[in-house]
Amino acid sequence: MTSVLIAEDEARIAAFVEKGLRANGFATTVAPDGRTALDLASTGEFDLVVLDIGLPVMDGFTVLRRLRQTKLPVPVVVLTARDDVSDTVAALEGGADDYVTKPFRFEELLARVRLRLRQDRAAEVTLLSAGDLQLDLLTRTAAVAGRSVTLSSREFALAEAFLRHPGQVLSREQLLSSVWGYDFDPGSNVVDVYVRYLRKKLGAERVETVRGMGYRLRTD
Ligand code: CA
Repeated sequence: MTSVLIAEDEARIAAFVEKGLRANGFATTVAPDGRTALDLASTGEFDLVVLDIGLPVMDGFTVLRRLRQTKLPVPVVVLTARDDVSDTVAALEGGADDYVTKPFRFEELLARVRLRLRQDRAAEVTLLSAGDLQLDLLTRTAAVAGRSVTLSSREFALAEAFLRHPGQVLSREQLLSSVWGYDFDPGSNVVDVYVRYLRKKLGAERVETVRGMGYRLRTD
């Protein structure tokens, strides 16, 4: 199993990342400060590190610099604040492989994690399909029975979440966290609203309501 070290001191964000990665088949360990993160990352037992820059005890830059001194080739995806471009640049110059700016949607982080793990693995899946519905993740386009359908970026992200779990029931909470991110109010009905939009564009029967549980993409 692929092991990811999550170096993040904010419990809410650490839990959000951990839950999402576990749901996608990764093993995870959380380090709440920079010293612990460096010690764990240096064991060489992790396939990838998600590293927050603003960490207590030792900041993310220092963790990154010391980790790179060990010559371990572990990929590092840093989490930086959206309004701090200099942090992002410094992290990349310091040896980070990639970055995601806060606040982020889980799918954004997952894409970065998968990309950095894939370096010398099999070719990326860029096309998702179920029945006559197809999504091209590179061009961000959708097609039904070969005819292209225009989706907004949220609609596309929601369709992608369904296509990554064909036939499975996805709860509103799961959909909220993978499409809207951790900053979204769990009481919001935005998922229901966007499922309606998707049904209009992709066909009313495409997404089933599973009462009391959530929604499911029909695959037949
Ligand atoms: Ca932090």
